[in-house]
Amino acid sequence: MPGVAASAEVLGGQSLGEPASPVLAADSVLRITFLDVGQGDAVLLQAPDGRAALIDSGRGRIVHLLREFGVHELDLLIATHPHADHIGGMVEVLDSLPVRFYMDNGQPHTTATYGRLLAALDARPEITYLEATPRTLTLGEVEIEVLPLLPRFGTGFDDRSVAVVVRYGDFTAFLSGDSEVRQLTYLVGRDAVPRTTLLKAPHHGSDNGFTWEFLDAAAPQVVVVSVGGNNSYGHPGPAALRAFEAVGATVFRTDLHGHVSVSGRENGEYEVAHGGRVAHRGTGSGVSEGPHPPSVRAAPPDDLSRAAGGVGLRLWVQADAPGDDHRNPNGEYAVIESMEAEDRPIGDWSLCDAANQCFRFPSNAVLEAGGEIRVHTGSGDVSASRYYMGRSRAVWNNGGDTATLYDDTGRVVIVFDY
Ligand SMILES: [Zn+2]
Repeated sequence: MPGVAASAEVLGGQSLGEPASPVLAADSVLRITFLDVGQGDAVLLQAPDGRAALIDSGRGRIVHLLREFGVHELDLLIATHPHADHIGGMVEVLDSLPVRFYMDNGQPHTTATYGRLLAALDARPEITYLEATPRTLTLGEVEIEVLPLLPRFGTGFDDRSVAVVVRYGDFTAFLSGDSEVRQLTYLVGRDAVPRTTLLKAPHHGSDNGFTWEFLDAAAPQVVVVSVGGNNSYGHPGPAALRAFEAVGATVFRTDLHGHVSVSGRENGEYEVAHGGRVAHRGTGSGVSEGPHPPSVRAAPPDDLSRAAGGVGLRLWVQADAPGDDHRNPNGEYAVIESMEAEDRPIGDWSLCDAANQCFRFPSNAVLEAGGEIRVHTGSGDVSASRYYMGRSRAVWNNGGDTATLYDDTGRVVIVFDY
């Protein structure tokens, strides 16, 4: 066990205590959000009573994203394994928010990132340490079953990822960090893989992050791949993506969809939202798809939001990308939101920063009524709600900048200063 000051005897059925955060929604849903942290994992669980847990923390700053989702306290923080793309943001979390329980696989690592995490934990003796041994924790009405780990000796870090099954009534999610074939095979062999509504693609959707036996056992309806755009690992792998689709799952990716939230109900129904819109719904037994009015919104950070004058549009900028902004140009983006009743053509409109680095929308671009468009700084696959400036370096200054949206005649539509 790493050098954590507090070591608690915790039994099966341990409750994580009283609600730490206010109730988030009148609706009784467990919301699981795959935060868009570039290449890495950060999975936020928000129980119906407002309690929150975070599984992994991405590589860099993450607290602003937690606040964006209304989280100011964590009942449980889990580090699946001590690689930087999973624990890089932990120190900031520990330094910024009250945390009640911290869990890891009990296996120290030699990196500076891990050393800083240990030091931060040492400085917070009030946090109760839990080693990931088979047990069930409860987060309000939500159960978190911690699955057995492979032996430490002879097993790589990825295959000792803390794996959990999250259950809220008939809604089930399977989250297992960067597990690869060996761990997945081990869990299938122990009958530890249940039928799953939602699967986090193991190991960022790597081709070594699935087996057919595992997918047959889990039979996921939705798979979310937590992955950075144009990452150097080739994630997600083409064979993994084909396999997810072959078992009938609908696949979402943080590099393409931004934060992906899956809201599950006790009866097994669920809804997938990203970019502030509901993208997919399922009944728990069969699925339906199609356009739906937005009902689950990831609110933009209040301090970044300004209403536009004259038109029902809003412009704001997420300037600070996770990690090094210049290495992750798609981690920063500008958002144009419509609060209008009609679709608005924005062909040949331009979006510029204070240094007049501009992006011109294609002539057929339309901002849907009530919808939003993100303009990422880097490169990627363009869709009706996602555009890319095609830059290899950051555009939006973290310390302050001005975003100006011009219409096709060059008239200023909105200015957003921050
Ligand atoms: Zn990873």
